[in-house]
Amino acid sequence: MNVLLIYAHPEPRSLNGSLKDFSIKRLEDAGHVVQVSDLYAMKWKASLDADDSLNRQGDARFDPALDSKHAFEAGMQSPDIAREQEKLKWADAVILQFPLWWFSMPAILKGWVERVYAYGFAYGVGEHSDARWGDRYGEGSMAGKRAMLIVTTGGWESHYSPRGINGPIDDVLFPIQHGVLYYPGFAVLPPFVIHRTSRIDEARFSTIRDALGQRLDHLWTTAPIPFRPQNAGAYDVPALTLRPDVSPDQIGFSAHIE
Ligand code: FAD
Repeated sequence: MNVLLIYAHPEPRSLNGSLKDFSIKRLEDAGHVVQVSDLYAMKWKASLDADDSLNRQGDARFDPALDSKHAFEAGMQSPDIAREQEKLKWADAVILQFPLWWFSMPAILKGWVERVYAYGFAYGVGEHSDARWGDRYGEGSMAGKRAMLIVTTGGWESHYSPRGINGPIDDVLFPIQHGVLYYPGFAVLPPFVIHRTSRIDEARFSTIRDALGQRLDHLWTTAPIPFRPQNAGAYDVPALTLRPDVSPDQIGFSAHIE
């Protein structure tokens, strides 16, 4: 299988760096082919702007979505964007690995998503009409591929528990797992989260490595998070709210999980 690891940490000798090296070896030893986008090492340009489209007219007003669409359709995207899209098409599984920074992904990784997920590539796919809102949330360009997060946090596991002060980790990660990954069609596996990173000695590191190794060994068999597909009847159209009879007592993020 082909695995694409999108990695966002500025220091190769970090915990994240060690785990990235471990993951690559584990996957390759199992016979998989691995490509890594090491965003800091690549000096990835994080901001989406007019330079991303090579076919813009003079001083025309920049439209982030439409210019992205026209450049994608015309094969006139910045080459760094097109290269990452080719890697995504090649991959059977995609892993996003990052330290949790301000309750989300580091800006460089957010910028990778904003620029690589072009209009027509990751969104704006399929029929858009009063009866249908495109191929997304379970359908789309990434359908058939798996994705998983590897995330480290300074906060303790209890801080991210259901009543923890930071909010439940599943809620914190919902915009990434449901928004960034499920939206374009990935089957999203439960995340691999390492908490309380300031308390890691050799023994704990070894335990973490073993647990991560198990997760990587089961990348193809682990059951995905059962997010509700958009176009399978659970949502009223075009409002795209859950039908009143679907989990009537549930609201918020968890309502979108079967
Ligand atoms: P490192 O600091 O590199 O390593 C952590 C520890 O792991 C080291 O001290 C070392 O003891 C051990 N270690 C590393 N490599 C090895 C190895 N090979 N063998 C054995 N032991 C090893 N946290 C939150 O919970 N929520 C937030 O919103 C949040 N926001 C942040 C925002 C910013 C800007 C920053 C800088 C930090 C934030 N943090 C937050 C904390 C952050 O998530 C952690 O600092 C990060 O996850 C630690 O990962 P690291 O790879 O940088 O670890």
